[in-house]
Amino acid sequence: MVPGVRLVVLGKQGAGKGTQCVRLSHHYVVPHISTGDMLRAAIKTGSALGLKVKETMDSGGLLGDDLIMEMVADRLSEPDARARGFILDGCPRTTLQAETLAELLKPGTLDLVADIEVPTVQALRRLAARRVCIDCGVNYSVSSPPKVNWMCDVCGGEVVQREDDTEEAIRRRLELYERQTAPLIDWYESRNQLAKVNGIGPPDGVLRRIIRAVEERRATGTRR
Ligand code: ADP
Repeated sequence: MVPGVRLVVLGKQGAGKGTQCVRLSHHYVVPHISTGDMLRAAIKTGSALGLKVKETMDSGGLLGDDLIMEMVADRLSEPDARARGFILDGCPRTTLQAETLAELLKPGTLDLVADIEVPTVQALRRLAARRVCIDCGVNYSVSSPPKVNWMCDVCGGEVVQREDDTEEAIRRRLELYERQTAPLIDWYESRNQLAKVNGIGPPDGVLRRIIRAVEERRATGTRR
């Protein structure tokens, strides 16, 4: 069996993070830990916290670092993540989250942080076309819809446009990405943990490039 991995995937909205993370989690047989998915699950419970989370998410804003890192710490402490690792999607999104994550992983560390690079015009085009299953979160697009009548191929759930994929919320998320999350690229680069991966082209090609970056890192063992 392929060895597990501890991988963070970065990339602006529309870079294809979600799609790649699902594939990576199958390849490495590790859980796909997506903070966005966990938050959407909290909303579904209809709790007071869920309502508050929904308001922030729909507006394209960021949730508090404490809430997010508590959620992530809990998930990382589960047996599957401890045994084989994880693909972390949507976190860290701020330097404080990156620092907290590094503390959580001690005495270990991440294998790699893969930054999927896609020009903003292309990311915007993908977001406008993106559709998602409300039950299992699988992504589709207007140009590659589910086989039958906007019903998810995987679970039969309804496939819709995400509520935070409005023009206004997308603009705000991209702005916040540039301001809060893009600085993480330098942060990880200065720690020698970053690999930039070209996110243009078919998903299988992008997946191969990420896997190659992980393998190269393992082969050279460059870690500080
Ligand atoms: P996207 O990458 O397209 O914004 P996600 O599903 O990763 O989609 O996240 C959706 C929303 O969930 C974000 O806009 C934000 O409100 C919230 N969120 C997810 N992860 C984090 C995080 N690490 N810190 C703060 N807020 C987060």
